[in-house]
Amino acid sequence: MKLGDPVSTLPLVGPFYESKLKKLDISSIEDLLHHVPSRYLDFRNTQNISSVSPSDIVTIKGSVKSIINQYTRSGKKIQIAQIVDNSGKITAVWFNQPFLIRTIKKDQELSLAGEIGWFGRNIAIVSPEYEQRDAKIHTERLIPIYPETARLSSKWLRGKINYAHKAVGGQIKEHLPDKITKKYNLYKLPKAIKSVHFPQDLKSAGLARRRLAFDELLVFHLTSLKRKRLWEKHKVVYDLSVENDNVNNFIESLPFTLTKSQTKAVDEILSDLKRDIPMNRLLEGDVGSGKTVIAAVCCLVSFLNGHQAVIMAPTQILAEQHYQTLKTVFSKYKLRIALVTSAGVKADLGKSDIFIGTHALIHKKADFDKVALVVIDEQHRFGVKQRAKLVKDVKGKRKAPHVLTMTATPIPRTIALTAYGDLNLSTLDELPKGRAPITTWIVPKKKRLSAYDWIKSEINEKKAQVFVVCPLIEESDKELMQQVKAATKEYERLSKIFNNHKVDLLHGRLKIVEKNKILSKFKQGKTDILVSTPVVEVGIDIPNATIMVIEAADRFGLAQLHQLRGRVGRGSKKSYCMLFTDNPSKKVSARLLAMKRETSGFKLAEIDLKLRGPGEIFGIKQHGFPELKIASWQDIRLIKNTKLVAQDAIDNPKVYQKLHKRLKAYEIAPN
Ligand code: ADP
Ligand code: MG
Repeated sequence: MKLGDPVSTLPLVGPFYESKLKKLDISSIEDLLHHVPSRYLDFRNTQNISSVSPSDIVTIKGSVKSIINQYTRSGKKIQIAQIVDNSGKITAVWFNQPFLIRTIKKDQELSLAGEIGWFGRNIAIVSPEYEQRDAKIHTERLIPIYPETARLSSKWLRGKINYAHKAVGGQIKEHLPDKITKKYNLYKLPKAIKSVHFPQDLKSAGLARRRLAFDELLVFHLTSLKRKRLWEKHKVVYDLSVENDNVNNFIESLPFTLTKSQTKAVDEILSDLKRDIPMNRLLEGDVGSGKTVIAAVCCLVSFLNGHQAVIMAPTQILAEQHYQTLKTVFSKYKLRIALVTSAGVKADLGKSDIFIGTHALIHKKADFDKVALVVIDEQHRFGVKQRAKLVKDVKGKRKAPHVLTMTATPIPRTIALTAYGDLNLSTLDELPKGRAPITTWIVPKKKRLSAYDWIKSEINEKKAQVFVVCPLIEESDKELMQQVKAATKEYERLSKIFNNHKVDLLHGRLKIVEKNKILSKFKQGKTDILVSTPVVEVGIDIPNATIMVIEAADRFGLAQLHQLRGRVGRGSKKSYCMLFTDNPSKKVSARLLAMKRETSGFKLAEIDLKLRGPGEIFGIKQHGFPELKIASWQDIRLIKNTKLVAQDAIDNPKVYQKLHKRLKAYEIAPN
């Protein structure tokens, strides 16, 4: 048997288990050995039967006196065995495992491990792990609990991993140079694999895990660096040697001066656009930090050079909004803009200089061969794979347009540099001047009515406009019918409470024409209160709206709360965000209090990173943010160190020969 053999080489692993393992990303025996436990159960405490007491977690050894199935009153089957050793007797119980009476035989010698509890009036070991006496795979040690999938239990995995490790563990070879394992105090790979599955103690399990996390991050960085190099081998489709004067004229024609970080981002982008290597840049900026105008600058450069640009927006409403914005800022130019939505095309595609639409439509209708620049707003739904589609073979040469992706999810910089390591990064870390800070209140149930009274007076006295966001029912990219119903109900409720005011309702199931009507009425100040579902249009820009009410705020993550709050405070008027919550738990209040205290998305992202577990940072999991299996996004030091090593490995391929060979064998897919 070889390390690289498929899992089906293992005894009793056929197509059924093969497909189950595939779900855990395991196809070879080597993959199986790299399947890292999520935790351990400590069954090292081996006791005589007579010396155990309730709530002990122990291993006992003895022989089976009897085993039977018994029906409970509710008709369920439980399995009851009597186990004896020299010191005494104990009951073992399992629930709903009727087959056990066939696998466990009378007089069999077993090791059993689990928690001691009660069964009726008898002391018992409850749902214990069991195995042939002294086998020491599932008992008598720290036993690993693995990430599981349906019908693939930790017990099964433990058995297979034990077998595989005995068979091919000796074939595992170190692939890092000595200087690196020494410098970072890492377990050698063979030891790490052994200790992660069969640890002597928790400390060595931790060190083993750390070594494997190191490898995971290292591979992650290396893949990005390689992908970046690959992209940089492409040539641009069209040359965009910039006419700086005209760009500066445009910037001066804007009704505001750019912020420092906007200016920096523009400079970075302009120098990208001058090169014959296509740009691949991520513009990361908090909500309201002014990304659109930067996209406009890019489009202008493309236009001034006589080429076409595309802007992809995540929703039709945002596409529409970009269309309006660009029409306004480019009113002095003879620049033709097309809006492509399912509602139709608003201009002649072939003759347009910029076309704006949603991803799907652009994919279908745009002729990317003619496009010099692609701007993607809200990057999270547009990944590496989609970007790869923009690359074209032109007469044997690999060509790609310049690509600017924009995201309003402020991920801490170190993490962004890793997660999107193949992109260059520009950050907008400040809001335009003159924005009055938003005051945030947490509103408990008993203050709800007075909050409504206060809102009424704000509308009456200051012509305030209000967003009301309905509770999040289920986290989902799509809008569920349930959500629409909830919003409709809230709308009806508020229409009664605010019977002297104009209340309107916006949700995703409305036709685009309807949505636009509702939004433009709101924009024109004809509506006082706009009730909407949570998923609706994160990017909408309505400067006159000054109050954001978020219902059941405790159900939202920090990211979403921050995004929603970013809908107000866009003009010069003082704005407010009211977080309605009926019974905040401690964990929830930590989040809401952070919202009250902090206004910067980047700060909140860091807090979210601390408050929530790995993979859940700032609610980006749903958005295709890369998931780590072993390492954690919270481990900034390991992320930084592995980045240095990855760069070193690229610069000194000879020293890292084994590592590169291994990566090749793995054919690390650019995903
Ligand atoms: P986002 O980064 O969330 O996409 P937008 O591009 O929609 O933000 O900009 C939000 C608002 O800020 C818009 O009304 C825009 O015109 C305005 N804006 C952008 N840059 C500046 C600036 N430097 N000074 C003042 N207002 C600005
Ligand atoms: Mg935007």
